[in-house]
Amino acid sequence: MSFYDEIEIEDMTYDAALEIYHYPCPCGDRFEIAIADLRDGEEVAVCPSCSLMIKVIFDMDDLPREEKEDAQKVAVAT
Ligand SMILES: [Zn+2]
Repeated sequence: MSFYDEIEIEDMTYDAALEIYHYPCPCGDRFEIAIADLRDGEEVAVCPSCSLMIKVIFDMDDLPREEKEDAQKVAVAT
């Protein structure tokens, strides 16, 4: 698997409403990765327009907290 680039998560933009990180793609669209995917260990952000990929360099400790969502997931699962 080859990546267009490797990007530090600090250099990406976090969209709190959509809960995704995004980064400009050279095609004019943008790479996107959901924060839930990052928490699952996923580290590849894909541009939906041109299929280029970047590898996101991050640490779990860098991610925003999600206490509320955890509670909701538990509630749904039980
Ligand atoms: Zn693109």
